[in-house]
Amino acid sequence: MSLTKDEIIALLKDETHQQDLFDKADKVRRQYVGDEVHLRGLIEFSNICRNNCLYCGIRRGNAKAVRYRMSEDEVIETARRAVNLGFKTIVMQSGEDMYYDTSRMCRIIEAIKKFDVAITLSIGGRTYEEYKAFRAAGADRYLMRIETTDKALYHKLDPKMSWQHRYECLLTIKELGYELGSGIMVGLPEQSIESIAEDLLFLKEIGVDMAGIGPFIPHPQTPLAKEKGGTLNLSLRTMAIMRLLLPDINIPATTAMESLAPNGRIQALKAGANVVMPNVNEGEYRKLYELYPNKDCTQTAPAHTKSAVVQKILSINRTIGTGYGSHRK
Ligand code: SAH
Repeated sequence: MSLTKDEIIALLKDETHQQDLFDKADKVRRQYVGDEVHLRGLIEFSNICRNNCLYCGIRRGNAKAVRYRMSEDEVIETARRAVNLGFKTIVMQSGEDMYYDTSRMCRIIEAIKKFDVAITLSIGGRTYEEYKAFRAAGADRYLMRIETTDKALYHKLDPKMSWQHRYECLLTIKELGYELGSGIMVGLPEQSIESIAEDLLFLKEIGVDMAGIGPFIPHPQTPLAKEKGGTLNLSLRTMAIMRLLLPDINIPATTAMESLAPNGRIQALKAGANVVMPNVNEGEYRKLYELYPNKDCTQTAPAHTKSAVVQKILSINRTIGTGYGSHRK
């Protein structure tokens, strides 16, 4: 569906009639991608990061963060267990940790690929050669949010990072034949409604296969600790409009939404979302990837987390995806 920037702005601003928007997005979701909810097993394998984004709990400058990085064997073993729990996609996410160089990443990808799963990488900015090597090793998808298309705001949030570079990475990833996931945070300091509308049009323009949209949640050990953060409602409206603009893509009910309200994910699944990405880290590693506080399910084991999610999905008369859950165009 095509919407003008002004129409998007009007929908974003209209809290009173948001239920109509959610219902419409839900209908479009059912029509284009059906009732299946695809589950992705999320392995957060390192919280070491070379970047210093002001909003992020694992920013380099957060000296209080307890750092970890999983060994190759630990990542592979975590994936093996997730596959045994029934996950058909493994998402590997980390800070920008260069310990995982090309050969190390490729060995991990090749080993996990043997489990007959789709692999999504979410490890930030890399070179063309690296993206190419990961793809050749078997990575199917890449997830990297643009965070915001307001370039001035982006550079304020990390003066050392380049918006243009991140954008070019997205283009490279697409060109190499990955399914491309991107997305934004909602409620960043000084982010306007107009800018969120532009973000949505940007995601449509680059033709993402997946769009992850979540509220910004201030982390107490970051320079943005005192900011207000995004609301669940505005995040849901943004996500629902994304569904209208790109009816057949994959849209996750994000962990940050669940962190703001105990039924945040379910609300998202009823407003356009069709994917959930439960954390499958084991033990201590579950709570150390602290991008923001109150992250969902840091205290429960992967099997328990997964069955709780499955039950909730079934309770709203949706089904669990049985395939890889790729973008069906
Ligand atoms: N290093 C990878 C992964 C980053 S963490 C990369 O660069 O893509 C994954 C996502 O968490 C980020 O893209 C960001 O959108 C989100 N995130 C980080 N800090 C957050 C916060 N305080 N509140 C909400 N989401 C946050």
